[in-house]
Amino acid sequence: MKVSIIGAGFGGLSAAALMAKKGYDVTVFEKNDQIGGRARVHRDKGFQFDMGPSWYLMPDVFADFYKKLDTKPEEHFELKRLDPSYRIHFGADKVLDVRANVEDNYELFDGLEENGGEKLRSYLKEAESKYNTAMDGLIYKDFRSVSDFFNLKLLKSGIKLDIFKNLDKLVTDHFESDEARKILEYSIGFLGGSPKITPAIYQLMSYVDFIKGVWFPIGGIRIVADSIRDIAEENGAEFKLNHEVEKIFVNGGKADALKTNKGHYPTDIVIVNGDYPYTELNLLEEKYRTYDQRYWDKKQFAPSAFVAYVGIDKQIDELLHHTLYLDRDWAKNFDEIFESEEPHWPRTPSYYVNVPSKTDPGLAPEGCETLFILVPLAPGLDDTEEDREKFYNQIMSDLEKKVGENIRDHVITKRIFAVDDFRNDYNAYKGTALSLVHTLKQTAMWRPRHHSKKVDNLYYTGQYTHPGIGVPMTLISSQIVADKVDEKFDGGLKYGDIET
Ligand SMILES: Cc1cc2nc3c(=O)[nH]c(=O)nc-3n(C[C@H](O)[C@H](O)[C@H](O)COP(=O)(O)OP(=O)(O)OC[C@H]3O[C@@H](n4cnc5c(N)ncnc54)[C@H](O)[C@@H]3O)c2cc1C
Repeated sequence: MKVSIIGAGFGGLSAAALMAKKGYDVTVFEKNDQIGGRARVHRDKGFQFDMGPSWYLMPDVFADFYKKLDTKPEEHFELKRLDPSYRIHFGADKVLDVRANVEDNYELFDGLEENGGEKLRSYLKEAESKYNTAMDGLIYKDFRSVSDFFNLKLLKSGIKLDIFKNLDKLVTDHFESDEARKILEYSIGFLGGSPKITPAIYQLMSYVDFIKGVWFPIGGIRIVADSIRDIAEENGAEFKLNHEVEKIFVNGGKADALKTNKGHYPTDIVIVNGDYPYTELNLLEEKYRTYDQRYWDKKQFAPSAFVAYVGIDKQIDELLHHTLYLDRDWAKNFDEIFESEEPHWPRTPSYYVNVPSKTDPGLAPEGCETLFILVPLAPGLDDTEEDREKFYNQIMSDLEKKVGENIRDHVITKRIFAVDDFRNDYNAYKGTALSLVHTLKQTAMWRPRHHSKKVDNLYYTGQYTHPGIGVPMTLISSQIVADKVDEKFDGGLKYGDIET
């Protein structure tokens, strides 16, 4: 059976590999000239930048995904655990390194507040229990209804999961110091939320961070995307780049063809990885949409981002592979992103600097460094060349002050990516970098469905769907979809039937 996949982000790539492995005839249509989606690569003058994801987290989820394809991550790339995991600056006055060995972090927390180490130990125990419950019962499941979610077993553990409490309340109940609180809350940025609107179940992110660890694939995140494409191709999938899908044709309740800018392609099954709202509102006739404009208008979108990809002709000792600069008053930052009636460019933003060439010198010419500077912005923000340049200089002035040396005079290559690029390059609604925030009302069965309500053979994978944002989550979303499709159509082989 012919499966057409719209988009070659991690969601589309993983769906392609899984469906091809199951024996389906897979074609992937991607509007851009390379695979990866938000995880594309930018290369210039000997520098290589991963344009999106830079943290390889939850290595167990990656291992599990490759296992479904009868292989292992280490057969495709070398993974390195980072130590320190990352460095955090608090305002201008305090700097801490979070280490790979959790015992070192207990000591670090002892220095932050009385009994800090013991408190962290017990906090991580709770986080572990949430992680295990989520992995066993929540994350890999396709929820279809509220009763499905609140079955007795989950309801019981749901009380333990703190679904109805917000993360900020949970953390402030446990810890007193500003630094401890921020270390335990910053990781919520990976889900595009703020601690006050994120359910406390996401305490599990601290278990991911402190215990599962922060890793880096040598060659960059790009190598992970390439390996999944290779597996898909080895199993017969075809990738059509520069093919933008313009319409999904529906006949008798079934999608039977796609129109792209290059031609017309008949199909038996469609899996959409492109941004959900764009696809529903632009590629489908109104009567075939599961969600209308009013639905999307009511949703809370995750931030957009300002990202500067900067190659410099020197190395900066003060920066680690991952360095976070957190403003002391970060509540104001979150308000600027999530609450402001009139979105504006942030005045005193928190930001993140990634220097992957620290771990993999092959990503920059000798003696040089790749800098990736990321600042969250309100979705839908006005974005002009002038705004971007002004903001670049604002952030660079701050960074130069913090590292104590000039950077701007050493720039060999520079590219800025912001709201309008997300909109134009990925068809991102309001230029969101990350889809829908993980509030309670946008989690599990409250995320957009994997299976269209109106079109029998139309499916959705990727960050808009459960379990949500982040590369590991998109790999899981595709496993849910691949199994759903196979359950219904049974047109291919099961994973277990395939000999390698
Ligand atoms: C700056 C940034 C930093 C991030 N950092 C991390 C991190 O450190 N760790 C982590 O795990 N996650 C991170 N994320 C999140 C992660 O990158 C995403 O959650 C994930 O990559 C989303 O994958 P996806 O397949 O759902 O969507 P996408 O990557 O957006 O893929 C969708 C694809 O569909 C294509 N498409 C859209 N419309 C059409 C059409 N009509 N026809 C054909 N093709 C179409 C798009 O071009 C795109 O290639 C980050 C994201 C960003 C933007």
